[in-house]
Amino acid sequence: MIDSTALLAPFGDAQLAIGGIRHYAIFLLDPHGTVVSWNEGAQAIKGYSASEIVGQSSARFYTREDVLAGRHAQLLARAAQEGRVEDEGWRVRKDGSRFWADVVITAIRGADGALRGFVKITRDLTERKRGEEALRQGEERMRLMIDSVQEYAIFMLDPTGRVASWNSGAERLKGYTAPEIVGQSFSRFYPEPEVRAGKPERELEIAEREGRFQEEGWRVRKDGSRFWASVVLSAVRDELGTLVGFTKVTRDMSDRKLAEEAMLERTRQQGAVAQLGVFAVEQPAVDAVIHRAIDTVRDTLGTERVQVLELSDDGNSLTLRGGCGVDPAGVGRLAVAVDRGSQLLSPEPDPQGFPLAGLLDEQAFPSGITVVIRASARPLGVYGVLCAHTAVRRAFNGDDVNFLRSVANVIAAAIERRRMEEQVRVAERRMQEERVRTAQVQEALRERDEFISVAAHELRTPLTALQLKLQGLERGLRAAAPEKSAGSKIGGRLEGALRQTKRLSHLIERLLDVSRIAAGRLELAPERFDLAELVRQVAEDFREPAAETGTELRLHGAQRMEGCWDRLRMEQVLVNLLSNAVKYGAGRPVSVRLESAGERIRISVVDEGIGIAPEDLGRIFTRFERAAPVRNYAGLGLGLYISRYIVDAHGGRIEVSSRPGQGSTFVIDLPLVAALVTLPGQGPRQARA
Ligand code: ADP
Repeated sequence: MIDSTALLAPFGDAQLAIGGIRHYAIFLLDPHGTVVSWNEGAQAIKGYSASEIVGQSSARFYTREDVLAGRHAQLLARAAQEGRVEDEGWRVRKDGSRFWADVVITAIRGADGALRGFVKITRDLTERKRGEEALRQGEERMRLMIDSVQEYAIFMLDPTGRVASWNSGAERLKGYTAPEIVGQSFSRFYPEPEVRAGKPERELEIAEREGRFQEEGWRVRKDGSRFWASVVLSAVRDELGTLVGFTKVTRDMSDRKLAEEAMLERTRQQGAVAQLGVFAVEQPAVDAVIHRAIDTVRDTLGTERVQVLELSDDGNSLTLRGGCGVDPAGVGRLAVAVDRGSQLLSPEPDPQGFPLAGLLDEQAFPSGITVVIRASARPLGVYGVLCAHTAVRRAFNGDDVNFLRSVANVIAAAIERRRMEEQVRVAERRMQEERVRTAQVQEALRERDEFISVAAHELRTPLTALQLKLQGLERGLRAAAPEKSAGSKIGGRLEGALRQTKRLSHLIERLLDVSRIAAGRLELAPERFDLAELVRQVAEDFREPAAETGTELRLHGAQRMEGCWDRLRMEQVLVNLLSNAVKYGAGRPVSVRLESAGERIRISVVDEGIGIAPEDLGRIFTRFERAAPVRNYAGLGLGLYISRYIVDAHGGRIEVSSRPGQGSTFVIDLPLVAALVTLPGQGPRQARA
């Protein structure tokens, strides 16, 4: 045991005061480190009562590791040697728990200088230690977090703008490692012109003044390349408000910037194509459209050389039609050969555009794109190509190709439009010529009708006079020698002359009918009569001429057909049909059939003669149209024309059916009472209908 009384003697009354201190463990050790006194604070901090610990070694306050490491002994030795030692470290309570202790050990020496023992003052700093630890861990966590952020460059600047910290995002974004950049001015992240203009300093000033500066702008990487950055610069101040530096958070917005720029560029290109399209609509000249297209490509893509080349019909060469960045003297002359396997002629050329051998002049114009100008009317379906080249190597993207193709489409549309306009012009010219021809024909027909009319009238008067004279002569002759005149020579001639004049007057009557029909002046005078009776009379008149050709006339059907028609005109129709049947009937029998059904009657004239070819059936009712050989059969080609007009004017119909070599059947269908129809003048206009 150590004599603690002796040891404590020098402290005198202070010993009492020390005993009551609670926040510090203050106790005495003998020169060997054995506890000789204990205060309240020591009990509170370490958990031992005085009786439990006095006389024990102070080594038990140390952790096992410290004891093994000889720490307890070392501290005492140092205190003995240096008079005082201070230590911070883990200590152990009675219950085995640890606390963070601040320990001061002071050596006590007697008047003789001999070591009498130690005063040991221990403070429990666990709370502070915990706080510090938490702070440290927090900072560490923050550091790790900042470091793990890859998308952002987060770093600190000192108040003068030198880089003070660096995270991995910053390294990734800007390319510098921490050792390379820490301590360097942040101005090296700015493009040179901005540095010269003092922009970095200005940003720091704003951040210092306003606490924060934010912008988007170009920044430079270590390798010199640029990126579009979003930057936030914040001032950092300590609790006294002193500026300690800045945090800078930078984000690479290049992708967004690129997307925005691409969108902008696309919009610009589309606008340019739209404008060109409007120009092409207003401007019909293809050359003007081509020139505007060339300017549009140059201004929009910024390519120094733009060309439009036209493919030859054989597809072997391309000739310069226009361009910029080319020798104007080459237009129309400069030609390049086309490789047959070239994409130009392939139905599906590369959608990304393609370089055209012979056009891509590697030296002067290393990069370029070419698109095809299609033209359906061209032999190969291709008008030519549109190509854009740059003087510096450059990559073109899909938007650029699409733009160029749209411009090519506008050119193609202009070409197509010109072709169509040309076709319309040709068609219009033909139509105009046709119109002139038709007018000429109608004029000729009108003149003919006029001539016929005038001639018929002019002939009728002298002919009538001649007829009257001849009839007078005949009467005179008969009166002079009634029985002789019939057989006399003069009588015979007179009769012949009268027959000729009758024929002539008949012809003139037909011509006058044509004039009347043309002028719409052939009028009907219907009366009641028996048409069957009329048919019989006409047939009777024909018996003799028919017999001359050996033709037998047969009558069938109704005996009476009472109705209301123009008698003379109906007679004219019947005479015409019967005379045709006899004329073209080849001596074979001719039948006339009468039928009446309700309100309508039918008259059929059937022969077994030469018949009519199918292709002629449509035109024999047209005036002056004849189907029979002129040499064998005389006639004007007017009979059927007039007949049809008369039947139509009665509200009836006349139709024919025939087979060549087997005869013809003409059928008249009439209402019982003529339903008078006013027919328009059958003048030149209708002549060909
Ligand atoms: P034309 O008998 O004076 O020539 P038409 O107008 O009476 O004039 O007849 C027109 C044409 O129709 C005739 O030229 C003839 O070719 C044809 N044609 C008319 N009737 C007959 C018929 N019964 N058989 C064959 N051909 C006929």
